[in-house]
Amino acid sequence: EAKAAGRNTLCFFDPRMQEALAARATLEHELRRALSEGQLLLHYQPQVDEQGELLGAEALIRWRHPQRGLVPPGEFIPLAESTGLILPMGRWILHTACRQLAAWADDPQRAELTVAINVSARQFHHPDFVADVLTALKETGAAPHRLELELTESQLVQDIEALIDKMGQLKAHGVRFSLDDFGTGYSSLSYLKRLPLDQLKIDRSFVHDLLDNASDTAIVRTILALGQELELRVIAEGVESEAQRDALLRLGCRHFQGYLYGAPQPAEQIGAHGRATLALHLGSA
Ligand code: C2E
Ligand code: MG
Ligand code: MG
Ligand code: MG
Repeated sequence: EAKAAGRNTLCFFDPRMQEALAARATLEHELRRALSEGQLLLHYQPQVDEQGELLGAEALIRWRHPQRGLVPPGEFIPLAESTGLILPMGRWILHTACRQLAAWADDPQRAELTVAINVSARQFHHPDFVADVLTALKETGAAPHRLELELTESQLVQDIEALIDKMGQLKAHGVRFSLDDFGTGYSSLSYLKRLPLDQLKIDRSFVHDLLDNASDTAIVRTILALGQELELRVIAEGVESEAQRDALLRLGCRHFQGYLYGAPQPAEQIGAHGRATLALHLGSA
């Protein structure tokens, strides 16, 4: 008896592990429902030039959870990726952001805006990805050259030829590409040169300590030089203060995104105040 019981208990996981697995299963179930019941939404964060003029916005996903409120992507995107849910979710993101782009195109005040979308590795490498993007553009009527796709360096370590081919197919339609969180991954410079990129995004970790960390200053300066060399636009992420913005300007950065210019917000608020509020941030620039 004792032996059998002992053997039985061995069949159980560590209770904490069991708890974690149950929580994960619940989250997965809830996330599936979120997608089918319309609990997902996109917020948009302003991207501006050195004059503080609004150029476009990055779409950032949120989950309006019935009990937990607004859940940030860091808490569900990894699970969506590991379960494959990122595929239907990614299609929803593409359609929703393109629909927004098409709506802005009809509004004289917002007609020139671009929209940037984050694309996860699994989504990008799916064989249907190019077709999905083209379908979203076609069905919504959004202009391809106003759509920017953000990839991360971790996506570049995979099959480089396939990557270049896919990017090329979309670029042929006018879609633009941005390399997100730049500086935190392992981009080889020779790869970078071969990729049909339009923009590098300086990761916000380098902006955060820019004012008192000499090596972050050196990294930012190097990324800006690289951008110039490769003829890529460079945008700084996570710009929170005027002091950071001024330091970036002195280093030659001309495009900015961060709380200084606006948090991720509902689409209606993007460009709603015209240039008046942005002018407040112009400072000595
Ligand atoms: P990311 O693409 O690098 O997005 C920038 C993140 O920095 C966003 O966090 C944004 O809210 C935050 N941020 C913006 N300005 C500031 C600032 O001034 N200071 C600080 N400290 N943070 C700032 P969020 O929205 O939580 O998104 C986190 C990450 O989740 C994103 O990083 C992106 O990798 C991923 N993500 C977001 N939306 C999507 C999506 O639709 N699809 C996919 N695949 N990933 C997404
Ligand atoms: Mg991004
Ligand atoms: Mg980023
Ligand atoms: Mg990121």
